[in-house]
Amino acid sequence: MGETTRRIRSAGGMAQAIPVDGPKLIALCDGYLDLNLSRFPDVVRGIGDDLAIADGQDLNDMTLSVNAFLIETADRLCLVDAGDSDRRGAMLGHLPRALKAAGYAAGDITDLFMTHLHGDHAAGLVLAGQAAYPRAALHVAEDEMAFWQNPAALDELQSIQLPFAEAAMRVYRDRLSSFRPGQELLPGVRVRALPGHTPGQVGFQLGSANPVLISADVLHLPALQVKHPEWGFLFDADRPRAQQMRLDLLAEVSASGLRLAGAHIPFPGVIRVAPGPDGLGFATAAE
Ligand SMILES: [Zn+2]
Repeated sequence: MGETTRRIRSAGGMAQAIPVDGPKLIALCDGYLDLNLSRFPDVVRGIGDDLAIADGQDLNDMTLSVNAFLIETADRLCLVDAGDSDRRGAMLGHLPRALKAAGYAAGDITDLFMTHLHGDHAAGLVLAGQAAYPRAALHVAEDEMAFWQNPAALDELQSIQLPFAEAAMRVYRDRLSSFRPGQELLPGVRVRALPGHTPGQVGFQLGSANPVLISADVLHLPALQVKHPEWGFLFDADRPRAQQMRLDLLAEVSASGLRLAGAHIPFPGVIRVAPGPDGLGFATAAE
């Protein structure tokens, strides 16, 4: 059994239903991304090592989940983000298998709702130059589209991500549309602005009794960033703004109980944040 298969099985499979009232929500596993500490430039060694070890991680050799989410209503099947494709090898690009595990095929997807257009969310939209989701309309936040449509303003790190955003917008140009924060994209699915990681990053909030916010890349490694929201991620386009967004959102959800789903929260990618004796803590909340 390969390493990826072993990790996916030990994590409980590739597709998991997340109970929420309203539309049906399913977490999908695209795979795992290996990262080293250079991706978390603000981490303080010692404190960070202890938090990582307590989470079964090693700061020198970290593993991040890459998740996508499926939202199903009576007549629409919507994929939130499309994973990283297999461009980096066998650890990623498992979304088509995850969809199959959930009982669907790529051709069943009617809509693609993007949190933002970095490669680990958008590279999976395009396979060999073709739309990986042949029937689906692509929906991107207005500010996110504007960010990638002005390449001259991108810094060096964001420029690395540009080809994925450009390919997505080019391949789906005939069925590309934009939306704004506050909009209800589907009955019971509302867009929330989460700027910082990219200027146009958004989340999607579902449910009313025990709601979930699909919160994109506000958190990359909850084991580090729930206790230390000031520890940013290298690819945050505006690290101070991303830091403030993380602080504000964690304060809000720890008070309200709103569950956070995330592309990099360990699969199935849903947690609840709560105050504890030594600051904020979190627990899986996929039930
Ligand atoms: Zn990401």
